[in-house]
Amino acid sequence: MKARIAVLPGDGIGVEVLREARKVLEEIGREFHHEFETVEGDIGAAAITRHGEALPERTREICISAQAVLLGAVGLPTSDNPDSPPRPETGLLELRSLLGNYANLRPVTVKESLIDSSPLRPERIRGVDLLIVRELLGGIYFGLPRGIKNGAAYNTEVYSEEQVRRVARIAFTLAGKRRKKVVSVDKANVLETSILWRRVCEIVSLEFPDVGFESIYVDNCAMQLVSDPRKFDVILTNNLFGDILSDEAAVLEGSLGMLPSASIGGVVGLYEPVHGSAPDIAGRQIANPIGAILSVAMMLEHSFYLTTEAVSIQRAVVRTLEQGYRTADLKPDPSKKELGRPVSTSEMGALVCESLKMPDPV
Ligand code: NAD
Repeated sequence: MKARIAVLPGDGIGVEVLREARKVLEEIGREFHHEFETVEGDIGAAAITRHGEALPERTREICISAQAVLLGAVGLPTSDNPDSPPRPETGLLELRSLLGNYANLRPVTVKESLIDSSPLRPERIRGVDLLIVRELLGGIYFGLPRGIKNGAAYNTEVYSEEQVRRVARIAFTLAGKRRKKVVSVDKANVLETSILWRRVCEIVSLEFPDVGFESIYVDNCAMQLVSDPRKFDVILTNNLFGDILSDEAAVLEGSLGMLPSASIGGVVGLYEPVHGSAPDIAGRQIANPIGAILSVAMMLEHSFYLTTEAVSIQRAVVRTLEQGYRTADLKPDPSKKELGRPVSTSEMGALVCESLKMPDPV
């Protein structure tokens, strides 16, 4: 097949991890005889420096005319001052809106070879395979009014029934293809938006009688994610809670750098690692590119329906980890002391590409 993909490296380690994700995309294209044309655009602080805005017109055009968008990360610590717009993060929020992607899928799959990388006990996390479905276009990130005035700051959380319904249907549909269990996470004991969220999810659950359904409060969910994570199949939640809970869930996998994501439901799918631009490690070639690489696998699956190719990437990542290769964020494999130092970002990308060339077991 032929496809055009917009590639937006963004800022900090976004640039470094996306370089490796691109290598993997090229390799899978060669292996499976697909033509993936990539077109690069600016976003975030990089775009502000070059064009004066976080999502320039050219980037919008590239993305809207592509068949999928692959993104690194946006944000720089110096730009986090709300009084000095434009902020790099607005570029990402605008892009999500432009593409209309209201459902953000964040799978968390504990790999056996990394079982000791998590600070949690192996018997607690072994076999964890959960999917966070985060609402992406509503809630407190977009609600108006917002601002800082006269010594006070305010934000507004707004959800319409339709916004909840459409993301809930995605979560239930995906759960139907998995272990058939949806846990909706809200704060309905305090927030009106959560009361509406809970009501709508309950109604949607009736459309999916073969999928189990439960609503829990976000504080309880945060606790259970580390105390009993295997109980979860699909976690359905709003924009803010999903953002926070998925960083917490990254601890199960051993590093935030491991988690990919797919944003779907709109005109063009958007694929990006869950992490940010990590200014504390940017430019040192120590970032873990696996979240970005697995985002390529999600793109192949969700935008192009290339499931075999997606599984090949996932297996290549698992094989590379089983061989004992680790970036600095992951605990070294004690049985592979001969490998010595952690591998760099680009070495990890090259190793996954090498592994892709190995035949998958039949
Ligand atoms: P972060 O995700 O960038 O980093 C959090 C911690 O995890 C850091 O210690 C970092 O070194 C580590 N880390 C993250 N990704 C890693 C990887 N691939 N390999 C190894 N270690 C990794 O979050 P932050 O530090 O809170 O935010 C930094 C900037 O990124 C901010 O400007 C923030 O707004 C932005 N941000 C952007 C996105 C996005 O683009 N989707 C998401 C979150 C944060």
